[in-house]
Amino acid sequence: MSRTLRTTTVPALEAVPGLVHGFEQRLGPPGWEDRDETRRRMAQALAGAGRLQLLKQVHGCRVHAAPWDGRPEADAAVADEAGLILGIETADCQPILLVDPVRRRVAAAHAGWRGTVAGVAREAVGALLARGSRPADVMAALGPSIGSCCYEVGEELRGVFGPDGAAFFRPGPRGKPHLDVRAANVRQLEQAGLAPDHIHHVADCTMCRADLYHSYRREGKGAGRMVNFVGFAK
Ligand SMILES: [Zn+2]
Repeated sequence: MSRTLRTTTVPALEAVPGLVHGFEQRLGPPGWEDRDETRRRMAQALAGAGRLQLLKQVHGCRVHAAPWDGRPEADAAVADEAGLILGIETADCQPILLVDPVRRRVAAAHAGWRGTVAGVAREAVGALLARGSRPADVMAALGPSIGSCCYEVGEELRGVFGPDGAAFFRPGPRGKPHLDVRAANVRQLEQAGLAPDHIHHVADCTMCRADLYHSYRREGKGAGRMVNFVGFAK
């Protein structure tokens, strides 16, 4: 089977000169998976723009600064230079791409519920601000993730999110709550100073859209991963 890459983007980031970004859409049939091949293929596709930097994601909130070799343990990254393309792998978790088009700097984060509670989106914005970015300049794009339509969670997560998180839970049809991880991260970005109209979405639900995305919930442990990326081309 011949495979070319397929990604979706947001118009606001497309409009930033020199920026490359995308949210990968699955190429193979549901369950098809070769993560190393996906990484290789994506790195190859982006080689003209720069070097794809991938992490070993561990559901934490550490931000790693590019460039690096190998896959360091972290769930967010920041890059100051052109030619460094940050990659975040997901299959239901929320990928978040951040761009400062003024200072030409990017960050990216991987936020499942654990990373969300740990504040990984806030930390990623913080890494930009620590390098001199202004919150009002920062743009965000949140890619496909498991939607509150499908994301049934245990009742105990309410306690983990605390009273401030009550707004992110809605009643599910089977008596268990559903979590809106996208909304929780939007609030974090807004609290970090991003303007609401600088926060963009590809709001597809990865579990509903079996035709387009890998989903850990749907496919289980063997699920593939999508590579989501952002960076300024060299
Ligand atoms: Zn859904």
